[in-house]
Amino acid sequence: MTKELEFAQKLIDFVYDSPTAFHAVSAVKNILTSCGFTEVKEEEKWNLEKGGKYFVTKNDSAIAAFVVGKGNVEENGFKIVGAHTDSPTFRIKPAPEMTSEGTYVRLNTEVYGGPILNTWLDRPLAVAGRVTLKSHSILHPETRLVDINRPILIIPNLAIHMNRNVNQGVELNKQKDTLPLMAHVNESLEKGNYLLNTVAEELKVEASQIIDFDLFLYEFEKGSIIGLNNEFISCGRLDDLAMVHAGIEALINVEATEGTNVMVAFDNEEVGSSTKQGGDSQFLSNILERIAISQGKGREDFLRALARSFMISADLAHAVHPNVGEKHDPINRPLLNKGPVIKISANQSYTTDSNSDAVYEEICKKAGVPVQKFVNRSDERGGSTIGPISSTHLDIRSVDMGTPIIAMHSVRELAGVLDHTYVTKSFEEFYRL
Ligand SMILES: [Zn+2]
Repeated sequence: MTKELEFAQKLIDFVYDSPTAFHAVSAVKNILTSCGFTEVKEEEKWNLEKGGKYFVTKNDSAIAAFVVGKGNVEENGFKIVGAHTDSPTFRIKPAPEMTSEGTYVRLNTEVYGGPILNTWLDRPLAVAGRVTLKSHSILHPETRLVDINRPILIIPNLAIHMNRNVNQGVELNKQKDTLPLMAHVNESLEKGNYLLNTVAEELKVEASQIIDFDLFLYEFEKGSIIGLNNEFISCGRLDDLAMVHAGIEALINVEATEGTNVMVAFDNEEVGSSTKQGGDSQFLSNILERIAISQGKGREDFLRALARSFMISADLAHAVHPNVGEKHDPINRPLLNKGPVIKISANQSYTTDSNSDAVYEEICKKAGVPVQKFVNRSDERGGSTIGPISSTHLDIRSVDMGTPIIAMHSVRELAGVLDHTYVTKSFEEFYRL
């Protein structure tokens, strides 16, 4: 097996360990802890050492890891890679069980973000997330992660005989057509509490201990390497766990430099970022300021540090689809396995400008990595990223880039094996600057 293939398989394993944003943070914490990083808490005093490796979490679903620079922060600034932990999915509503025909038990769900709904049909689905339990303190309930890693749900399609136009495209109603089937009504189980009891069993607690939950659906089947010559990665949640994985791998692989290296993964990008753990918050800005403060620096030193900083806003990019090439710009046409993609937009939905573009292009050149460019076809709107949102909180130069993929927001997205290595190499080169 080639090194690139091995690394792509590592990404698939990471995504499998990260069925939700909460689990992604937990998986990242495990990697960091095994590499000598120490957890610091927002509510405690920080005594950071030069060259020290630390991480801090927010809401169990966002994380920032950093290696404190050996130089003065106001002279060397921060080198930041930013990504996001969340992906489009379905969230389970309170008291979710609904019966139909007196025999089927379905779960009431709400769509999270913008999934391609029809890709979720006829697939074995599992449930994971965070559960909040009673504790001795009302203000501080206990939280636990749960992963019911069994194919307990499915959203069945309607037969083509009752839906003759299905291949001309069919609208799915989010309250009616996408509710997953879980079980038959079963007299031996407690009605209305099938799911809750299963969660309680999984956590080995009494169901009455559970006050609330943040539970989501995910595709049960693990991602895989595909293609005649193992060229491709077929896997869910590559957006944006591929960038989280690349960023963390780069951070742990590079020794402390003069500047401070930071990898941040926000939650809630898929729903607009405006939460305390999202990109549109003070989470990152406060951490950077505290890194400066803990070294005895003042506000001016912190602002000087920002002026010397650079951020790579890393979120996946669209590669040209082999069957629908006309959706792309006629000239700038990113392809799978041809390297990271710089994203550019006249209306600034990406942060890239010629200055930040030049910085990232030179980084790629130094790393020996090919680089591509993406601009929207002028009559297509395109997506958004954490870059412009984060820039409104942090006054620093920034480039938007990402690994090229096809089928973004499908339950299984498609990436190139080589690109994961290319992108990670570019981040390592950035952190070495
Ligand atoms: Zn994304």
